[in-house]
Amino acid sequence: MSVAISAGPSADQRGGRRRDPEVARLLAHAADGGRITHEEALLLYRRAPFHALGGAADAVRRRRHPHDVATYIIDRNINYTNVCVTACRFCAFYRPPSSPEGWVRDLDDILARCGEAVELGATQIMLQGGHHPGFGIEWYEETFAAIKAAYPQLALHSLGGSEVVHVSKVSGLTFEQVIRRLHAAGLDSFAGAGAEILVQRPRQAIAPLKEPGEVWLQVMEVAHGLGVESTATFMMGTGESDAERIEHLRMIRDVQDRTGGFRSFIPWTYQPENNHLRGRTEASVFAYLRLVAVARLFFDNIAHLQGSWLTVGKEAGQLSLHMGADDLGSVMLEENVVSSAGARHRTNRAELLRLIRTAGRVPAQRDTLYRHLVVHSDPADDPVDEGGKVRSHVSSTASPGSSASPGGVSPSRQSRRLDLAPA
Ligand code: SF4
Repeated sequence: MSVAISAGPSADQRGGRRRDPEVARLLAHAADGGRITHEEALLLYRRAPFHALGGAADAVRRRRHPHDVATYIIDRNINYTNVCVTACRFCAFYRPPSSPEGWVRDLDDILARCGEAVELGATQIMLQGGHHPGFGIEWYEETFAAIKAAYPQLALHSLGGSEVVHVSKVSGLTFEQVIRRLHAAGLDSFAGAGAEILVQRPRQAIAPLKEPGEVWLQVMEVAHGLGVESTATFMMGTGESDAERIEHLRMIRDVQDRTGGFRSFIPWTYQPENNHLRGRTEASVFAYLRLVAVARLFFDNIAHLQGSWLTVGKEAGQLSLHMGADDLGSVMLEENVVSSAGARHRTNRAELLRLIRTAGRVPAQRDTLYRHLVVHSDPADDPVDEGGKVRSHVSSTASPGSSASPGGVSPSRQSRRLDLAPA
């Protein structure tokens, strides 16, 4: 159905409004599990009263996940290089190949970080890095195979559509060949990296050298067809319009209708420090929470919705659990990329359990497939974490003072300079 939408104020400006029968009808329809169009999703994003929007999204969440459990995972993001030829304007992490600040982690360093993660209870590793001009398929195969040989218990939920595109160029392979070889070497699933915003106008503005959003989705569709599932992400707040936010959701849902391969949707907010977009629009917490709720109503074909604590803060993360989210992401033993751009929030497992409980949910540690590993029904049985080691940013180049913390690996000791010609 087609709905007329007045321009009106943006979602950031939205507060309570007098009852709107069309909004009320759509909220009831979506809360009952009915499919809404992207025009209707935009109408709700712009016009639905905040509490009614959250209530409808929470109704969907309760039906999908009826045991009032909210999950978290213990994982570590390992950044294998900051050298990148793609130069995204929102990125504070990368260095061009000619930079004296470029580095590559060697395999021993990566394996040491995996070993630390296992000791701290991690079940998943997210390898994430720049588009290094010298890294073809063999580099990834060697790395993944070595990790799987040493730590077969770790799920490799890593890379994204952009890395596949990059490797296909460097190695002269098709997307399918790249994905088959990565999977055979040990990649279990793709993280949603590189999605940012898939709509071409804002994507071109923030990442002009990255593949178009349609190509990113094409890679995901090929991966799903080969049995390699993924998550889908959204970095909101780089100057996109409300309509472009909803269009991003539509593009993902269309692919999901064909493949069913997206396990979850993970929106988060752009961080403005140390990058070329500094000063551009950020998404408010209010707009973020509205987006979480609309995503829960719109994605009738994606099982899980992850709230963020890293970029919007812990209290907003808690609130997301009342706006449709069923998962609060990772303890994040290590994270450098978003933190380089100003994400300052930090947490630990004990605090995540508290956050989930005080939001009225039962915390459960999950694995990459969202299976419950431990349901923390009774606080008296909570894991003992002497010294508070299971915490975010155990080792992080973007977290001043934490890189030398117990169990951490000093970046300066473990990284080496690159001598590369400019790409
Ligand atoms: S976001 Fe990724 S692809 Fe873009 S510049 Fe940063 S490291 Fe490179």
